[in-house]
Amino acid sequence: MIISMKMHATRQEIDEVRNQVEHFGYKVHSIEGEERVVIGVVGVGDVTACMESVESMPQVEKVVRISAPYKFVSKQFRAGRTRVRVNGTVIGGDEFVVMAGPCSVESEAQIMRAAEGVAAAGAKILRGGAFKPRTSPYDFQGMEEEGLKLLQKAKKSTGLAIITEVMSDRDVELIAQYADIMQVGARNMQNFVLLKALGKCGRPVLLKRGMSGTIKELLMSAEYIVAHGNSDVILCERGIRTFETETRNTCDIAAIPALNELTHLPVILDPSHATGKRSLVPAVSRAGVAIGADGLIVEVHPAPEKAISDGAQSLDIPQFQRMMNELEPYIQLWKSSRAKENAAAAAATH
Ligand code: PEP
Ligand code: MN
Repeated sequence: MIISMKMHATRQEIDEVRNQVEHFGYKVHSIEGEERVVIGVVGVGDVTACMESVESMPQVEKVVRISAPYKFVSKQFRAGRTRVRVNGTVIGGDEFVVMAGPCSVESEAQIMRAAEGVAAAGAKILRGGAFKPRTSPYDFQGMEEEGLKLLQKAKKSTGLAIITEVMSDRDVELIAQYADIMQVGARNMQNFVLLKALGKCGRPVLLKRGMSGTIKELLMSAEYIVAHGNSDVILCERGIRTFETETRNTCDIAAIPALNELTHLPVILDPSHATGKRSLVPAVSRAGVAIGADGLIVEVHPAPEKAISDGAQSLDIPQFQRMMNELEPYIQLWKSSRAKENAAAAAATH
């Protein structure tokens, strides 16, 4: 159940509603928006009695019963799409947003060349890991804060926003000082301590699907972040593990429209980790545009053959430029279909 309070309800009125809900044996999570507070009610109890009681309280605007186990991220909670605003770019809005850059930040020259190259090709957000989750403890683990400083430098000189990975709740505060978007990697999709901390980080979060995470589990993980106070969550399909070995992961392309049916959160596609092969990245990216993703996150390196991580799936800058040019007609179609969807949604609310 979700309870929307009337605009400018007082603290005391909100507390009265909370107490009433708790009286029926439920647990309460609230999101404090700028204008109104929304209370999520979870647990087991007498739903009908609780709803009727709360509906009659004076400062309650609306009570909606939500049957999915995830509440705040469910389409039943909010019609339309969540628009995540980052540095003047909106994800989940009228633009198809491309994030691009190397797997890892390796040096100043590397990240600056990558940033300039991807910005010139039309990317709006620079990716680059400073804290790297590596399968082997002997592999490069990332430049950590020094890498964050290089990302900041690249942001200053190109105007690109920054997305970078956070692996531990202990690093949230540090990374939030540099990142415009906090990336949760596949390996941490169910790091619940981290997800809770990101609820309070004050930055949008990109949540990648775990290698063996179901769509429902991905949504439950997103629910953790939102229930803990942060509604700016972007989901990312990055391929799942199957019996197939020709590609690094199996791109579950249908997850994108499936998520669009279930949630109002924006959904982007990572064609690089989904395939593991640079030759496949442009085709899978086209599929992402055509199937209605809100954007892409693509690995691009100025010299992929020298990359410390994920070189085989990284495009070089001319390849990325070419891919962006080739995507353009598809993005135009995407824009007209998004405009139609927005017009239909506006007509439905009048
Ligand atoms: C990455 O983006 O470089 C990364 C490690 O991705 P994933 O978490 O999807 O494996
Ligand atoms: Mn990578």
